[in-house]
Amino acid sequence: DIFCIYLFSNGISFSVDSVFFLSCETIRTNKSLPGLRGLRNVENIQYLSKTSKSRNSHKTGNRLVYQNLITNWMDQIVKENPDVVTKVDYGKTYENRTISLLKSERGGSSKKAIWMDCGIHAREWIAPAFCQYFINQLLQTYKTDPKMEQMMKNMDFYVTPVLNVDGYIYSWTDNSTRLWRKNRTPGPEGCECLGTDLNRNFYANWGTVGISFDCCSNIYPGKSAVSEPEAQAVTNFVGKRADEILCFLTIHSYGQLLLIPYGHPNVIAPNENELMEVGLAAAEAIKKVHGKQYTVGTSPDVLYANSGSSRDWARLQGIPFAFTFELRDDGTYGFKLPEDQIQPACEEAYSGALHIITHVHDKEFIKPTGTAATVAATLWTTMMAVFVTSTVIV
Ligand SMILES: [Zn+2]
Repeated sequence: DIFCIYLFSNGISFSVDSVFFLSCETIRTNKSLPGLRGLRNVENIQYLSKTSKSRNSHKTGNRLVYQNLITNWMDQIVKENPDVVTKVDYGKTYENRTISLLKSERGGSSKKAIWMDCGIHAREWIAPAFCQYFINQLLQTYKTDPKMEQMMKNMDFYVTPVLNVDGYIYSWTDNSTRLWRKNRTPGPEGCECLGTDLNRNFYANWGTVGISFDCCSNIYPGKSAVSEPEAQAVTNFVGKRADEILCFLTIHSYGQLLLIPYGHPNVIAPNENELMEVGLAAAEAIKKVHGKQYTVGTSPDVLYANSGSSRDWARLQGIPFAFTFELRDDGTYGFKLPEDQIQPACEEAYSGALHIITHVHDKEFIKPTGTAATVAATLWTTMMAVFVTSTVIV
């Protein structure tokens, strides 16, 4: 087994046994292997991580998982789509790893853009898988679909598959770290716990609600606003392009929610009605795919109040459309979403994201043809009725 080698379709080879604790037998019996990459890759590795027994190689294996799952995948996407996609390094993590995004750029003079980040919370493994699925879909669709072709000409897409790289890698170490949420910076003096909740660290009502200044807490917001290098990277990159970015999507799990600004109960987005309307229509689009119900609303209304989120910060920067996606599930499996749900979870969320992006695009680039605002109020009441109380921090 030690000599079991898997050759990626792009020619990158590595010892399978050194990648976490993959079983060579499982690799050999997987008939789809020659094309294995992206989502399939995620499926297989996530699956194996919960079914295989740990071997002594796992201490370095978690780093290799990231390298093979994310870094090599990004390089491969760029290699396969050289005219469309570039990789942009835009920050460093606390442990000095590079934070990268994929940018799609297809001509067009009026530069507008869509932002998507995944994996700001380490344990939410379905999120990076979704970013990979999203990129794959964009690149497959635009060649044949005139609408996608048009949208990709008018707008650049910035997609960060894993923002919290240190935390994500740490969550792959073993079962005891699987549910790690924060990044990996040391706490303040006198505190032995590590990590800041990056989604409480942004400059948006920082440190006010939905946080704990106990540095061992999972919702510790950091020493100060934007104290964390990962939050700084997004703040710098997006902040410089706030006029250009029309839509900010940040992907989490779990709970099946579409959250709009703001997390603070006393702050209301000036376009809250439109955000609700678009969110509800996106939830309808999601439901059409596999019947899953997504609830739409502000964090305090449908989940819990919070502060310092990247979504709220983006809206405060003037980016009109800002949404948090909480992907599957409803709490049955929580962060450990079973393998057979990865693909459907991505398919439905893609449909929701596509609805939002299409709305954003058409509003900017196509003359208005009227709205369906009247439906929103009714749907809102319906959605509120399915509100499920949550004690889990997502
Ligand atoms: Zn989260």
